[in-house]
Amino acid sequence: MSSSNSHHHRLQLGSLCIHGGQSPDPETGAVMPPISLSTTYAQKSPGVHQGYDYSRGTNPTRYAFERCLARLEGSSLTQDQDVTFGGFAFSSGLASIGAVLDLLDSGDHVIAMDDLYGGTGRLFTKIRERSSALSFSFVDMTNPQNILDAITEKTKLIWVETPTNPLLKVVDLKAIANLARERGILTACDNTFATPMLQRPIDFGFDITMHSITKYIGGHSDVLGGALVTNDAQLAERIRFLQFAGGAVLGPFDSYLALRGTKTLNVRMRQHCESGSAIATWLENHDKIERVVFPGLPSHPQYAIAQQQMRYKGEPTGGGMITIFLRGGIEESRCFLENVQIFALAESLGGVESLIEHPAIMTHASVPAERRAELGISDNLVRLSVGIEETDDLIADLEQALEAIVPKEAASIS
Ligand SMILES: *Cc1c(COP(=O)(O)O)cnc(C)c1O
Repeated sequence: MSSSNSHHHRLQLGSLCIHGGQSPDPETGAVMPPISLSTTYAQKSPGVHQGYDYSRGTNPTRYAFERCLARLEGSSLTQDQDVTFGGFAFSSGLASIGAVLDLLDSGDHVIAMDDLYGGTGRLFTKIRERSSALSFSFVDMTNPQNILDAITEKTKLIWVETPTNPLLKVVDLKAIANLARERGILTACDNTFATPMLQRPIDFGFDITMHSITKYIGGHSDVLGGALVTNDAQLAERIRFLQFAGGAVLGPFDSYLALRGTKTLNVRMRQHCESGSAIATWLENHDKIERVVFPGLPSHPQYAIAQQQMRYKGEPTGGGMITIFLRGGIEESRCFLENVQIFALAESLGGVESLIEHPAIMTHASVPAERRAELGISDNLVRLSVGIEETDDLIADLEQALEAIVPKEAASIS
């Protein structure tokens, strides 16, 4: 294993998707690890085993996925430092976020991005404020000064999402990592939207990278899971304990699916990004669209940072998520969303199939209405997850659904 790791370390990201941390099954030569369902492992003598004892703590299928993601996210830990190189898989994205919060002590303070995945904010304020006496400040991190203003002596964690959901705000990871490090504050980045193909928070100095593998990593809308990666051996040891002792681990079937998805992450992201850019540009020129938010467009408020921070094979990219503001309100949005045919009207994102949704009614319904208004999650806001179908088919679908929008005056006459 260790000789193959030093070799794999030099591979490009697209190759790491397939080979990162992997080696054929020593028993059979199988190139994909078997789905190891056994929950327990026979010991030669009490405490003497082959590295596996009970599968909440140790499972070879989960390890294979964890090692692959760890290498993709830029961990260089050796197997001696951490058996899965600092990669940890959980039963959902939220379970993995919970494990990060478990690093904190009761009474600690967390600064989080203001525009967050709805479930993350809900976990913070509806569960951990009460059960763990944590306190949270939500600030717009596109201006790092807002973070400095929010820091107290109890601040122990900065939680970042970039690009954010659903407003696709981009924050400067390097600036935040630097200001946190100087003050001994832990940093974690939810990298679900960008994926390691476009951005590796660890490279910018972050302590922990988090994924909902339900999205791009799994990539086929058929597995729910989460993951953490760290490049710090001591942090890895603490997270390993919390994963084992907390218990919300990714099961062997799901680990297999997650690894299978990871193998094609590179080619999927290439297509997501290519279509994302073409569709965002097309939408920006459509007269039924008031505004397009896409990190790859010069009109994006943090375009300059996005150009440096989000890159596919060295070239700037905006990713595969697009947020649009339609001309009109809830009726126009509803009409548009009822008429798309290839885009499925569904929550979630990052799958091979294109998805479209209405955050105010669907994914962000748990965000209080006033907060949504403050953030700009309005009734004419629609979020697109561009899949890997042919670009022209996707544009044709959006075109016909936009054409189908009946202006309000005309609708009320009939
Ligand atoms: C989906 C998602 C999560 C939560 O992940 P689950 O796997 O649904 O628990 C967290 N962050 C982001 C950005 C997400 O899109």
